[in-house]
Amino acid sequence: MSDQRPGLSGLPPHELTEWLAAQDEPAWRARQIADALWTGGGVTDAAAIVTLPAGLRGSLGAFARLDTVGDTETQVTDGGLTEKALHRLDDGVLIESVLMHYPATRGSRERHTLCLSSQAGCAVGCPFCATGELGFGRDLETAEILDQARHAARRLATEGKRLTNIVFMGMGEPLLNLDRVLAAVEALNDPRRFGLGARHITVSTSGVVPGIRRLTSLGPQFTLAVSLHAARDALRDVLVPLNRRWPVAEVVGAARDHAAATGRRISYEVTMIGGVNDTPEDADALAGLLRGDHAHVNLIPMNPVAHTPWTASPMPVIESIAATLRAAGIETTIRRNRGQEVGAACGQLAAQRAGEPPAPAVARRRERLVLASAAALRGERSDEPVPAGVGE
Ligand code: SAH
Ligand code: SF4
Repeated sequence: MSDQRPGLSGLPPHELTEWLAAQDEPAWRARQIADALWTGGGVTDAAAIVTLPAGLRGSLGAFARLDTVGDTETQVTDGGLTEKALHRLDDGVLIESVLMHYPATRGSRERHTLCLSSQAGCAVGCPFCATGELGFGRDLETAEILDQARHAARRLATEGKRLTNIVFMGMGEPLLNLDRVLAAVEALNDPRRFGLGARHITVSTSGVVPGIRRLTSLGPQFTLAVSLHAARDALRDVLVPLNRRWPVAEVVGAARDHAAATGRRISYEVTMIGGVNDTPEDADALAGLLRGDHAHVNLIPMNPVAHTPWTASPMPVIESIAATLRAAGIETTIRRNRGQEVGAACGQLAAQRAGEPPAPAVARRRERLVLASAAALRGERSDEPVPAGVGE
């Protein structure tokens, strides 16, 4: 049976104060607990909070879990620049977070970016994504999101370093777990808790339009990234099945309104898949769609995943797409994908642990994707339904 105690990092500050009051403890103990929980990534055991009296340490440990991602395996790759963490949650569910180190360059300071998960699995089912293939497991609790960040911060603290950026680009669709993601962002941004500037936090979505509109109504908070992958509906229906519910024009419309209301530039992600979304027609469609927008496009070569017929576009093709976009006045960056050896794209390690599906099922999936993408390239829209669980 899973542990019923709440994760302490996800507890709203007033609830901790109320709990302390119920223990007849002074309110200022909350400050001691917060310091112990957040400084340098914080402690993972109430017994380690030496500033508290022993009795309170015991009752705090009985009341709440100090760490919800404790059982973690890490793998290091890219010559030490990428650290992949596979976390086993209390109910046995596996999720991933990836810590990426970017050494200082002449133009920029050293950065340490954590890519974290918002859900176990994902209901959206993008066919080039290992998490999508896993299907939906469950929403993560606020503490489970935050404890991934605390884990990375502790790891960095051992070298006297700090996390500089957080991106919600691990497993899951953050805008389909929006309440918890917003609570986590609030804690990450709170100077009395994680204390990371809003500009250093990016939330990525595959295009949940009502979620984007809700973020807009909250005002500028963090960077919004939209996973576009294709500008034409027929192809986007295949690559991001959510497109059948909210088509590309609605997604870009909501993103545009967000940029206008918040003054913040939208980041568009395009995973480059050889022979699928990298034709000159696709480049022109993308340029036509985003021309004149307050936007930045990131072109990312597809990370190889096991059960697709696809691979990354060749670099010269990506460069020519970047040239088309730049000629249309759209800022464009080509990103190198990190951690391929240990499967650092979204959910790849967890997918490996989930076991190999039967060979005929894999062959059918590959064949279906080849047919669907070929039909999309001819401009034919698929009549497959919207995936279950991603509606309003
Ligand atoms: N669900 C959200 C956030 C998590 S996915 C979203 O889709 O935006 C984070 C990013 O990883 C997305 O831009 C997604 O398209 C990308 N991604 C997934 N699988 C990939 C792969 N095999 N190669 C490269 N990028 C991938
Ligand atoms: Fe889900 Fe994002 Fe993967 Fe698509 S790319 S399946 S939305 S995690």
